[in-house]
Amino acid sequence: MQVIANNINILKEKIAIAAAKSGRKATDVEIIAVSKTVDIPTIQEVAKLGINNFGENRVQELKEKAQAIPDVNWHMIGRLQTNKVKDVVGKVVLIHSLDRWNLAEAINNRANYSNIDVPLLLQVNVSGEEQKAGVKPDDIRHFLDSIALLPRLRILGFMTMAPEDFNPERARPIFRELNSLKVKFSKENFTNVNLKHLSMGMSQDYEVAVEEGATMVRVGSLIFGNK
Ligand SMILES: *Cc1c(COP(=O)(O)O)cnc(C)c1O
Repeated sequence: MQVIANNINILKEKIAIAAAKSGRKATDVEIIAVSKTVDIPTIQEVAKLGINNFGENRVQELKEKAQAIPDVNWHMIGRLQTNKVKDVVGKVVLIHSLDRWNLAEAINNRANYSNIDVPLLLQVNVSGEEQKAGVKPDDIRHFLDSIALLPRLRILGFMTMAPEDFNPERARPIFRELNSLKVKFSKENFTNVNLKHLSMGMSQDYEVAVEEGATMVRVGSLIFGNK
């Protein structure tokens, strides 16, 4: 646990430096500790260190952990199948991975059933890689325009996955582009859309992401070690 505490301190310091480079404060950037494959006792210890936000990419694991540790904020960050929506809606503070219209419809249906509104980020495929999930930049306007048809949804920003590369500088143009899309679409009035968050940056490129305007970084291995 000492190692993890140390990792978190270093992470916080580096986020503060990167935030300052973009004219912001460390508190403008939320750390989402990606706890996939990490066991429940370890997560509980990390929560005691003051980390309140945890991200999972698999529904079953998310469900078990959220049940065991209900007093932290859970985030769904991975691809979500429509038949698993019922296990996520109402159980997480934010779904980062809204990547297609039929998922939006399924979430809205479930939210109606539960009588709640659902905070979401629209996942954008900025890099254009075929295998990556997400809405294409050219399709964002239509998607956001149509959100009014699904009145339970609240779009709070964008999320992206940068291409994996040893050089984090390769990710910079992707993050910069997502930020400029946020600035652009913030100026338009879409119903139930309030673009304040950018979820971007992982262990290898979070500093670059924060420099380019990330408000949430999703960091796993840098906190918990390589599992
Ligand atoms: C695993 C994962 C992360 C964190 O990756 P690390 O390289 O371990 O920091 C971030 N986002 C998503 C969607 C993930 O699945």
